[in-house]
Amino acid sequence: MTPTAEPIIQARAIEKFYGPPEARIQVLAATDLAVYPGEILALLGPSGSGKSTMLRMLSGLAPPSSGQVLWHGQPVAGPCENVSIVFQSFALFPWLTVLDNVEAPLKARGVARTERMKRALRILDSVGLDGFEQAYPKELSGGMKQRVGFARALVVEPEVLFMDEPFSALDVLTAENLRSELLELWDGKKMPTRAVFIVTHNIEEAVTLADRVVVLGKNPGHVRTDFRVAMPRPRDHQDPPFLEAVNYIYRVLTQPDLVPTPQPEHEAAPAAGAARAKYPMVPHARPGGIAGLLELLVDREGRDGIHHLADDLAFEIDDLLPIVEAASLLGYIHVKEGDAEITPEGKRFAEAGILRRKELFRVAAERVPLIRQINRALASKADHSMPADFFHDLLDEHFSEEETERQLETAVNWGRYAELFDRDSSGRFFIPEETPQPAGDEVGSH
Ligand code: ADP
Ligand code: MG
Repeated sequence: MTPTAEPIIQARAIEKFYGPPEARIQVLAATDLAVYPGEILALLGPSGSGKSTMLRMLSGLAPPSSGQVLWHGQPVAGPCENVSIVFQSFALFPWLTVLDNVEAPLKARGVARTERMKRALRILDSVGLDGFEQAYPKELSGGMKQRVGFARALVVEPEVLFMDEPFSALDVLTAENLRSELLELWDGKKMPTRAVFIVTHNIEEAVTLADRVVVLGKNPGHVRTDFRVAMPRPRDHQDPPFLEAVNYIYRVLTQPDLVPTPQPEHEAAPAAGAARAKYPMVPHARPGGIAGLLELLVDREGRDGIHHLADDLAFEIDDLLPIVEAASLLGYIHVKEGDAEITPEGKRFAEAGILRRKELFRVAAERVPLIRQINRALASKADHSMPADFFHDLLDEHFSEEETERQLETAVNWGRYAELFDRDSSGRFFIPEETPQPAGDEVGSH
């Protein structure tokens, strides 16, 4: 592929907001992104970073709130004819046979019956579904269902094949199988598709498949890095360049651009147009998970590569990143070049007993703006309690309803562990009786 080739799709400063105009939530900051002929492009990011939203806008399934999507230089209005989408959930018609499922999009495009059948049978054969034509989806395993998903997508010979976490619902071996079969079709030029756009939250999957990886950060979604993977396929996961690419992505993802204190060493500066968070989020990690990570680090002389840790724990980024972010926010680790290094505070915490841990956590949690704010607000009230709505309103101008709830949920988890505050069955926040009060008494003072 020549980088100078005309892009098939070009998104210019596309942005997405949800919610009513007076309380709109930005889920994607203005982003430029192009899809070029000949490439597999992986869009990688933690859940909630706007990957599916981006896919919907590029494929014409949903309009951007502002900005423009061009296909071959022409503005897109409505779902594009020359695309197909493969979904994580397969999205097959349960009342149709495999053959009828694959014929369905051709039927919708008005292709004649004999031609439809010919094309469907051919594509079923190429994805290994020979002999399953008359089966119903419920008779098939997950892997076979997704083969039908691929066949149905490929039968229309889409110019761009879109996939939204197509392997996430499958077991590891099945996913690996399907991935390599897809690559065989693609690299063997056995599919007429000119570009593949795959959404994933799996780093290894992105590096296994893609010619180019675009990494999204969240709140609001923005491009953190966009880079090329030049290795020939199939790729050996133990090859140094493969590990380097995986490591690089971890480095970018764990570089805290969401935490208020800026990192001194900005190695991979966010791409132009990247947005910064308006309100620092609490990473969704449980104190027990944080303690687990710290204990593991102590076992490893205090430092280890984050991708090693993820591998050893069989964690995906959505599991490990919040824990790493939380530990870093609490001052328990430093993230350096894709490694997590435990701090003296972290070590003290890891080696303490349960009661001492709670005390230490209480002090560390004061570094986290939301925890501090809740704590100060409660301490300022004579009865040491506040309705949940107060904190809800504080957050909901920055986050979606769902994220606001999750933020409060995590804050309560931390507050409860530290014995700083709790939430009663009516949702009211309160400071438990025997908790020592924080030193400051001004509400929201920093
Ligand atoms: P990802 O695919 O990376 O997990 P999504 O694109 O699905 O992320 O969602 C990005 C953010 O937008 C999330 O916070 C999600 O809650 C929010 N969101 C997605 N769709 C809608 C919708 N229809 N209405 C309101 N918020 C939405
Ligand atoms: Mg998604």
